[in-house]
Amino acid sequence: MKPDFRTIILILLAVLFAGQVYAQDRPTVYILATGGTIAGESQTAVTAGYKAGAVGIDQLLAAVPQLSDLADVRGEQVVNIGSQDMNDAVWLTLAARVNELLDEDETAGIVITHGTDTMEETAYFLNLTVKSSKPVILVGSMRPSTAISADGPRNIYNAVACAVSPLSTGRGVMVVMNDRILGADDLAKTHTLDVGTFQDPNYGQLGIVYDGKPIYARESVKRHTVHSEFDVRGLDRLPRVEIVVSYSNATPLFVDSAVEAGARGIVVAGVGNGNMTTAMQDALAAAHREMGIAVVRSSRIMQGPTAQWDEVDDDALGFAASWYINPYRSRVLLMLALTRTTDYREIQRMFQEY
Ligand code: ASP
Repeated sequence: MKPDFRTIILILLAVLFAGQVYAQDRPTVYILATGGTIAGESQTAVTAGYKAGAVGIDQLLAAVPQLSDLADVRGEQVVNIGSQDMNDAVWLTLAARVNELLDEDETAGIVITHGTDTMEETAYFLNLTVKSSKPVILVGSMRPSTAISADGPRNIYNAVACAVSPLSTGRGVMVVMNDRILGADDLAKTHTLDVGTFQDPNYGQLGIVYDGKPIYARESVKRHTVHSEFDVRGLDRLPRVEIVVSYSNATPLFVDSAVEAGARGIVVAGVGNGNMTTAMQDALAAAHREMGIAVVRSSRIMQGPTAQWDEVDDDALGFAASWYINPYRSRVLLMLALTRTTDYREIQRMFQEY
């Protein structure tokens, strides 16, 4: 028996209705794509000669059809770059879009696909500028999408699983990679190739993803998101901050260049507990005294604080110490700090609170 025209229409309407109910039942998660190795492509089955930021959001999502079990996923391509080229302009665009989307009631959370090279900087920037306690998760991969055993699809699945979980609310911006959940307050890329490259070297990871569910083990006690005093909405640029490294025989060359280039702040990736050659220290003290340039001492060492009150007299020099914030995240915090103050005591307070 052939179904008549009316039956076909009724079946189509029923399918459409069921589809809508299904979509409404599931939380809405936006995936904002920025590029990176997770969107990388190679002509080989390994990583040789691959190009980061080559594959678009649609192709990324198509590799993980299981996402539709977790959420009504909507993708947006923000940029498609290797994260070595990440910059302030993209950060401001991302912060604005994330804040806008999280303001909508229907948005449960946001996942941002990102290269791993500068993921710790973007995660920390958003941690301090997103004005919502809904989950914001950054995710990347160490192997391009075309590689054997690519880690991207599993990482994206886990990131969306975290984004839809009520357990993820109010935890600040997080990174989900290699079944681990890491906090933006202490994030560091620790290995050039390993899929387990991300660590929280001082505070420890926030939790794990197990069987598609987040299991949290610690909470950040640092100020973030809704408790942050920084607000970049409406800004079209950030104050310029440069990083200079100390090492044996380091001269003031790069301090002088940063000053000449118009930096408003300088972070020192110092030796040991944020120490530097006397020549560099003198140049930085003069930059602060004579030009009001903010100076923050941090360290090349991955673990342990750059503490005040040891070998360097920060109060006498007008410097601030970064405590547990590494040089790259210190640069982010100092840029935001300089949108509000140039007083080194206030900047020191911020490095203790964030
Ligand atoms: N260079 C790449 C990037 O950061 C590396 C990666 O994603 O793992 O975009």
